[in-house]
Amino acid sequence: MKKAVYPGSFDPATNGHIDIIRRSAKQVEHLVVAVLNNINKHSLLSVDERVDLLKELTSDLPNVTIKSFSGLLIDFVAIEKAEVIIRGFRAISDYEHEIQMAQMNHQLDPTIETLFLVTRNEYSFLSSSVVKEIAKFGGDVSGVVDPKTALILKRKYSESEGLK
Ligand code: ADP
Repeated sequence: MKKAVYPGSFDPATNGHIDIIRRSAKQVEHLVVAVLNNINKHSLLSVDERVDLLKELTSDLPNVTIKSFSGLLIDFVAIEKAEVIIRGFRAISDYEHEIQMAQMNHQLDPTIETLFLVTRNEYSFLSSSVVKEIAKFGGDVSGVVDPKTALILKRKYSESEGLK
């Protein structure tokens, strides 16, 4: 059994992400969910908020750890001594970007394999951006993220409304 890293922005983590975490955690000995701290990309939730939410949502999974990382994913994977990268596939639209990344990572370190899990039907159209778009306009996101995340999104967007 292997150690795997599931990287992503998780801004915020959706039920689709959690499903991938739960399913991949069953396939490996240890799973590190790696929250990207990307200084070049504006995120709604801070990296600490994203890490804390994921910790709560996976607290029942003993073989899952949540960490943040910045820089090259392949370097983080090496530091973690992991052998596998997990990614999720939703639709054909994910294909180009995901294959490019997997091939690039393989070139950088041929000992690391990227494994893809196909999303469940109900999560195929679910993305963090769609969730943020709905929350921004006051829509109900309680069916696609956990209640605490829904509350945080509501608070963030009402705070930004208040600043206008
Ligand atoms: P990134 O910015 O690295 O794409 P994301 O947080 O958007 O970070 O996604 C992380 C991974 O989770 C990606 O492999 C993405 O395809 C996958 N993913 C995102 N949403 C879903 C979903 N609804 N179902 C399955 N996989 C998903």
